[in-house]
Amino acid sequence: MKDDNSLANGGEPPSDHRLQSLKGFHSAGRGFWRDVPAADWNDWHWQLKHRITMPEQLQRFMPTLTPEEFAGAKLANHKLALAITPYFFNLIDPLDEHCPIRRQVIPRIEETRTASWEMSDPCGEDSHSPVPGLVHRYPDRVLFLVTDRCAAYCRYCTRSRLVSNASGYDFHPEFDKPIAYIAQHPEIRDVLLSGGDPLLLSDEKLEQLLGRLRAIPHVEFLRIGSRIPTFLPQRITPELCAMLKKYHPLFMSIHSNHPRELTTEVRDALGRLADAGIPLGNQSVLLKHVNDDVTVMKAHIQKLLMCRVKPYYLYQCDLISGSAHLRASVRQGLEIMTQLRGYTTGYAVPQYVIDAPGGGGKVPINPDYILSHNADRVVLRNYEGKIFEYPEAPDGTPLSSPPKEIEAPQMI
Ligand SMILES: *Cc1c(COP(=O)(O)O)cnc(C)c1O
Repeated sequence: MKDDNSLANGGEPPSDHRLQSLKGFHSAGRGFWRDVPAADWNDWHWQLKHRITMPEQLQRFMPTLTPEEFAGAKLANHKLALAITPYFFNLIDPLDEHCPIRRQVIPRIEETRTASWEMSDPCGEDSHSPVPGLVHRYPDRVLFLVTDRCAAYCRYCTRSRLVSNASGYDFHPEFDKPIAYIAQHPEIRDVLLSGGDPLLLSDEKLEQLLGRLRAIPHVEFLRIGSRIPTFLPQRITPELCAMLKKYHPLFMSIHSNHPRELTTEVRDALGRLADAGIPLGNQSVLLKHVNDDVTVMKAHIQKLLMCRVKPYYLYQCDLISGSAHLRASVRQGLEIMTQLRGYTTGYAVPQYVIDAPGGGGKVPINPDYILSHNADRVVLRNYEGKIFEYPEAPDGTPLSSPPKEIEAPQMI
């Protein structure tokens, strides 16, 4: 029975040292910026202003940059811009070409290679957009794209067509039309702010927006999708938290993929959000050589709980153009899910989903736990592979007489 074993390292149990480095909380440190005053380093505006955005800068800060990465960085500004906050850059291990942090934010030349089944709008959002900046796919909720900018850019971004404005898509977020649409549609009870990253807006602008949405009586529930807690934890100021607190019920979905992203800085920022009463969920993307390994995934989701975050969704990587080098298989994803459920805290286990190509929305993907569903019983498999039966009449009512026989548990 596999338990703590890694998929990527051929089933060898990880060394204590490796597990410890995944589970412990460490600071990102200042690295190249060690002479920068703490007041600047901890100021989110300073972090944004000093982002690494040019291939030459990247090469200067990381002499181990490979030719594939340098070429990728050169071409990035025609597709999805290159930007990395100094804080997040310091999490990269420059000596490890396959560093899981590095793969997420440093472009590679493979990004320019597009397979015929890859798309610029893999989730078909544009076809469900009644007004620019709004996606209305599900009956009672909308996705509201409030900005086209992020603190840093994930190389597998599903919205790279409109984020960072590098690909000439010409998206100019504005609030009036989406808000008017929401106000005119009483079935919309849930508004999800995303983009781009809504927490890049100033406190004032974000508060205005939340206030306008809260003024609509049928909007019950607000959420913000943001990667700022992991890219730029300095942004999560006490003032921001005090402002957000006024707009409850407000949830936040953060985005983290690897335990090394959960630093002491991030843990403290998430603590401030949680203390403001904001329930926190995490959305991860299953990424090759980043988190397609059960040891890494388990350490990550357990560490998220330590940060007061419930792992919400694990996404199969969308078929976004130029992402093949980052995509892990559905088979691998299901294998990881099989090794999480039952083996660790239920709260830690995310729902694995595929956002159906072309606009079908999120489809839950689960290992099979129902082996058969007959006239008088449901046959189940537990996490250990033992078989159990749940007696039930064909019409779904409890049985009036015992089923023919209940077999003793057996292994499959
Ligand atoms: C993911 C998503 C939502 C929110 O879905 P939940 O399952 O409620 O978290 C809403 N609208 C769109 C277009 C989405 O992609």
